[in-house]
Amino acid sequence: MDPETTPLGAGASPVMCNVCGYVLNSYHPADPREPVRYEHPHVAPDDHQPDPVPMLPGAREVCDFCADPDPVWWYYGKEITAIIPALADKRTYSPIWAACRRCAVHVDRRDVKGMSRHLLRVMADTEMVRDNPAMMREMWESIHEVFLASWYKRERIPTA
Ligand SMILES: [Zn+2]
Ligand SMILES: [Zn+2]
Repeated sequence: MDPETTPLGAGASPVMCNVCGYVLNSYHPADPREPVRYEHPHVAPDDHQPDPVPMLPGAREVCDFCADPDPVWWYYGKEITAIIPALADKRTYSPIWAACRRCAVHVDRRDVKGMSRHLLRVMADTEMVRDNPAMMREMWESIHEVFLASWYKRERIPTA
């Protein structure tokens, strides 16, 4: 196995924040002795730290590409470990990504450039895009290039 990737085990089950109910992004450090870290999607309120608990029905799931509150598909692809130089960080992304209707157009076409153009537009007023759009584009494209090439099935997200 590639030493850069960590196997996805039972520990990868989805978690949500106990305070705001948003599904959390989990980042698995390459060193298994280090704890998994959790982050809110950028649309969640920023007045508290993520409080991870196992996911319950009614959790607020968002598009893993643009954070749209109404994702419709889960895409199954490859687990990706990426080094993010700008964040001095190494992250392992889950192999299942939720996508909203608009992002799904680009995922279906495996269109990496189209996806970043779309994201720069819909996330134009977020701090991270305002501060450094070129860095964001580079970060997205390095990850999306792998994920968009790797996905092999999609499933409709059940509606509550
Ligand atoms: Zn929260
Ligand atoms: Zn989206």
